[in-house]
Amino acid sequence: MNSCSRERLDSGWNEKCAIVGTYNVEKSALMSYYALFAMQHRGQEASGISSSDGVRLYTHKSNGLVTKVFDEKKLQSLVGRLSIGHNRYSTAGKDSVDDAQPLFARYNLGEIAIAHNGNLTNAKEIREKLIHQGAIFQSHIDTENLIHLIAQNKKPSLRERIVDALQVVDGAYGLLFLSRTKLIATRDRYGLRPLSIGKIINQDGSVGYIVASESCAFDLIGAEYVREIQPGEMVIFEGLNPQNSLQPCIPKISTIQVFKPNPHPCVFEYVYFARPDSKVFSKNVYEVRKNLGRELAREHKIKADMVIPVPDSGVAAALGYSKESGIDFELGIIRNHYVGRTFIEPTQEARELKVRLKLNPISDLILGKDIIVIDDSIVRGTTSRQIVKILRQAGAAKIHLLISSPQTISPCFYGVDTPETKDLICANYPLESVRDFIGADTLGFLSLEALSRSVGSQAYCQACFDGKYIDDFTKTKK
Ligand code: AMP
Ligand code: SF4
Repeated sequence: MNSCSRERLDSGWNEKCAIVGTYNVEKSALMSYYALFAMQHRGQEASGISSSDGVRLYTHKSNGLVTKVFDEKKLQSLVGRLSIGHNRYSTAGKDSVDDAQPLFARYNLGEIAIAHNGNLTNAKEIREKLIHQGAIFQSHIDTENLIHLIAQNKKPSLRERIVDALQVVDGAYGLLFLSRTKLIATRDRYGLRPLSIGKIINQDGSVGYIVASESCAFDLIGAEYVREIQPGEMVIFEGLNPQNSLQPCIPKISTIQVFKPNPHPCVFEYVYFARPDSKVFSKNVYEVRKNLGRELAREHKIKADMVIPVPDSGVAAALGYSKESGIDFELGIIRNHYVGRTFIEPTQEARELKVRLKLNPISDLILGKDIIVIDDSIVRGTTSRQIVKILRQAGAAKIHLLISSPQTISPCFYGVDTPETKDLICANYPLESVRDFIGADTLGFLSLEALSRSVGSQAYCQACFDGKYIDDFTKTKK
């Protein structure tokens, strides 16, 4: 938890999350559940699903992990062949279920549910205006602005109202809207947050569709990756008969280019967020991470006995480093996946215990050895410091810490939780001081040029690494 994200949430902040939508899919809510389970890494705070039987929407959401939020009975109550779901990531104090998604509302066109991944950068301003006009808000999240903008609009169709609402909001979004018979999916003009379409063949032989933040969600339910939703594009899935929407249909898909695309997807999805088995922004994350490691090896040629990843975030990059350098890859640190609470105050001792609960070095392997340790990023520096400490205690002779991304020097305003500039260690101290604080013998980062080479030729947002924000969002700068 950090003070900046608390401040952001109080002003209507949303965070990086996972979203899923299914259309004309048998056991639609169950499929959304599996998809959310596959994307649990994108948000652990709360989870929810809304479904429709063509007559009304059903919603269940609660705080906690997907497996805690849903059981068989709850999933069975979410009837229908269309649904949307959401995993919420939040580091701030607002743990009210009101802030869990999907957000549901009744309005003059019927019923609607919304799931949002990203951050609306002018949310506070719009919210104040709406409140001034008499709107009553029930949550603290920026997404609720969209509900009010849609409800106040007088146009006859939901799609027109969504298009109008999107003209008002700025920022980063992958958005899913569920009405009684339609699923509508859209991305901001920069395509900052990932969102792709998959196809599934139902047991009744009909074709269904799934839209999800990451393609790992498709794999779990046997769906085939079709394509990314383009930046600024809105895709509408319809065709279910409102009178008989529990019966299969032949889905009709139409698309509107709401905004001229200006693609700048988030490079940090490749560096850290997305699962390595996912395809995001049309590329496999694992392959990109291996490229990051190869580039790291070209830029930092070091003699050592072995390359060790910090699991799991550094594994693919360490493999790439090992392949390029010819230095042996070893799993010198073992991760315990069942990390619980430490039950002690958040002191230095607690932070150390937390790292120890999660990561344990194999001392027989590293005793007296020169090791290259690879991790994905350094934010505050506290994790790396702890890792170096436990490796020293385990007897490593020399520790060369290499990071498969450039120095994090600026906060993110597009839906990724990064601390204020004052807490970003690399924004405040020269490399040598950071190395000394962390306690490594060597500290090296990937250059911005090598990052660009690794992810391909298209433009990306890399503002957290170079401070260059893609538009005037910086007016909200922390
Ligand atoms: P620290 O330097 O101690 O703040 O933590 C850095 C580590 O946290 C990195 O190695 C990543 O694995 C992870 N990390 C980086 N960015 C984020 C983020 N936005 N949210 C959660 N974890 C992150
Ligand atoms: Fe991603 Fe960094 Fe840009 Fe945020 S600032 S969208 S984390 S690349």
